[in-house]
Amino acid sequence: MSAARGARIILDGAKDIGSCQHMTQTQKAMVLFSGGQDSTTCLAHALARYERVETLGFDYGQNHRVELDCRHVILQKMAELAPDWAARLGDDHVLDMPALSEIGGTALIGEGEIKMQANNLPSTFVPGRNLLFLTYGAALAYRRGLDVLVGGRCGTDYSGYPDCRRATLDALETALARGMEMQISIETPLMHVDKAATWKLADELGGAGLVDLIVEHTHTCYRGNRSLRHDWGYGCGDCPACDLRRRGFDEWKAA
Ligand code: ZN
Repeated sequence: MSAARGARIILDGAKDIGSCQHMTQTQKAMVLFSGGQDSTTCLAHALARYERVETLGFDYGQNHRVELDCRHVILQKMAELAPDWAARLGDDHVLDMPALSEIGGTALIGEGEIKMQANNLPSTFVPGRNLLFLTYGAALAYRRGLDVLVGGRCGTDYSGYPDCRRATLDALETALARGMEMQISIETPLMHVDKAATWKLADELGGAGLVDLIVEHTHTCYRGNRSLRHDWGYGCGDCPACDLRRRGFDEWKAA
């Protein structure tokens, strides 16, 4: 799980994480870390390449709030996986964002069922959520002296959230640079990586130990179900998030 190996895998798999070209070994990262499969894989990616890595989660009244409880366990287990990861892992932060549930209107915080809508976005879509998370992340990174923001799932997700697209992130990078007079890169290692490749990437970054950790301790299910255990982890088994996770796992295993 050397840094060089991790970096090569990412560069091969994701052609437009443009920020990579400017990276040096001295960069420090803030990882938006929800406690899910994707953000845990992103955290491993960051630990493989940055000398200091801090983590940030958000409490916005999400249905799958159970993922927040998973975060501490995952961070502890990640540190136990590799001594160099333990040395690089810095402070963890959680910010309350109750305004998102006040705005409401999404199945992610308990309103209505989880389904695709006429506009081709799932009912779990929270308008601007990723923009808000990244902006808060950048503000905290500014205070903490960190210069890279690492975000999770993007692009190939069934949902295609418009605030996860690279063009949106490029515009936000520009806005943050102008608004804070600070150069901060937004890196999305999973931009062009589907769920099967996300499992594969975890295996490449941290071996069977990391895959086991992700199966056992990360949370993906939109319904917050942690009572049903499958070979791909815990979840209701039939929400869109569970479906993606299961299909990716099966596809990776079959490859
Ligand atoms: Zn589920």
